[in-house]
Amino acid sequence: MTLDPLFGQLLRLRRHDRTRLRQLVDALDRLCHQPVPPWQTDVYLQQLLAGMRQLLDACAVAFWYRCFGGSSLVIGPYLGMREMRLSSQTRTTLDESVQRFWQRNGASHVQSPDGSTAIIVAPVHHGLQTVATFTFLFSRSNAAFGQSQENVEAANHLQSAIQSSLHAALQLPVVDPRWSADPLEQLTSQVHLIQRSIRQTIELYLNRRAGEELVDVAAMQSFATQLHQLLDAHGLRVRCPECGHAAILRCSGAATDQRGNFVFDHYIDGRRTFHGAGSLLPRLRIVNKPPRRKRASATSG
Ligand SMILES: [Zn+2]
Repeated sequence: MTLDPLFGQLLRLRRHDRTRLRQLVDALDRLCHQPVPPWQTDVYLQQLLAGMRQLLDACAVAFWYRCFGGSSLVIGPYLGMREMRLSSQTRTTLDESVQRFWQRNGASHVQSPDGSTAIIVAPVHHGLQTVATFTFLFSRSNAAFGQSQENVEAANHLQSAIQSSLHAALQLPVVDPRWSADPLEQLTSQVHLIQRSIRQTIELYLNRRAGEELVDVAAMQSFATQLHQLLDAHGLRVRCPECGHAAILRCSGAATDQRGNFVFDHYIDGRRTFHGAGSLLPRLRIVNKPPRRKRASATSG
């Protein structure tokens, strides 16, 4: 089993008892062996981050994507970062370490200047390219904080254990070392990465505007319409935070009303359903559009 070296490595660190560690490793193994349809990538990444964080006993973990055509990475999904209340200095160290170490072969370790946080940067390779990076954060109150070398080794083991599952989930073609890279496969991989980057760019923009109050119903409706056109052009939807379904953001209320409300419009068990999103711009997650419903009439599906 591919996760056995990881199990051995983590057992030596004695952060979990043997039974607990076996449960955590088995859970990760199950996750890595299940097929991930494209519209489930976000759920998969969240579960992967949760499993990795537990195994390494880290306080926080994040996944960073490469921007298309850029030489820097942007932060994607993460867990535990807010709870750590990082100082702006630590946050800067984290960003700088990611940009400095993401192209390395293997994980790197760095400590924040005030000594409060240990950071591991673990790049994700695909063939000869680095496509993403995980970061693991340990605070001083964390038992794993002082074990920098051990953490680096554990992160490397973890990385190789999940690599092929992650490639599949990110829809990167299988890299077979026996072939010299097939140009069409390389193109496919590049296009998938561009698509992720588009999604990421839209999400970052929307998150900056979350909580904003638009002047009136007309402005809210125009925002919702424009956003839908942009997302639809790329096969994307927003994720309803209440039920997790892919949805279209709309604004309810007559154009003459002073205030309207955003709603998530989606089909649940074949029935068109609306879930409320309040009058301020909601925090939005972008997801891939799910496959067309059978005998679909129109919209979200
Ligand atoms: Zn919903």
